[in-house]
Amino acid sequence: MSHDRRFPYYALDNDGRLSSETPCSACGYNLRGLSPDGVCPECGTAIKHSLLGDFLYFSDPIWLRRIVRGMDILHIGLAGFFAVACGTLALLASNHLRSSTALGTIGLVFVVPLAGLWRATLAESAAVEDRRPFTLRRAVRFSIVSCGAWLLLGLLFALGGGPVSWEGYALIGAALMLLLLSSYLLYLRSLARRTYDRELSTSFTGVIGGWGVTCVGALVLTACYFYQVPRSVLVRTLVGAATCLGPFSLLMLIAMTPALLLPFRERLARIADMAADTRRKAEAGWTPM
Ligand SMILES: [Zn+2]
Repeated sequence: MSHDRRFPYYALDNDGRLSSETPCSACGYNLRGLSPDGVCPECGTAIKHSLLGDFLYFSDPIWLRRIVRGMDILHIGLAGFFAVACGTLALLASNHLRSSTALGTIGLVFVVPLAGLWRATLAESAAVEDRRPFTLRRAVRFSIVSCGAWLLLGLLFALGGGPVSWEGYALIGAALMLLLLSSYLLYLRSLARRTYDRELSTSFTGVIGGWGVTCVGALVLTACYFYQVPRSVLVRTLVGAATCLGPFSLLMLIAMTPALLLPFRERLARIADMAADTRRKAEAGWTPM
């Protein structure tokens, strides 16, 4: 029997008890053999909470509030990063700053949005966390750690003045920014789907599609334009296009914040309040459905 993860589904035996393995959404206890109207014998959570699919309204409100706070740090961090980067580049252009100091400052300020993103991708709880090795949430966190390592490496290179190809370093950074933006957008869409608001998840799908077309288009266009030129020029052009897409993906993340990410943050904050309300009612003996 196929089970659409998005919709509540559970099988009952002839006595009206759960006939399939069903983990409690709060503690992971196997609820098989229990009535869906009861509570988990381990932690007391209403069993219906564990049967309502992955609808965000029935998720842990404490977890939701934590990721909303993470989004706040991310958005404030991005605004700060944008301001500092513009100011630093202006000072650099007017020769008031050494380039190593400028790049070091910009890199250091980027740690704040990375920290916010880390918090915005906290695991739900041990019991309901997806156990597959590859998840979108883990992909975001992998790119956060990689970006952090990339910044640290750049700092060490700048301080040590060691033999480093800055072209290669920039290319790796661009690839990491692409991975960070793409995985975060896909992760947000997976959360948007759990609100059951089609319009919201469609707008994320639209942004992701547009972004994918932009990336592929940039690479194909440069490749087509230079298809007759010697290989080294082609390679250099592709490296150039990819390196441009890195900063561009960062700019896109900043540009999207007021239009899409802030309204989504508001929505998640409201859902967290409603989820807390549902929990309170459940504790008082009220059960959903
Ligand atoms: Zn439980």
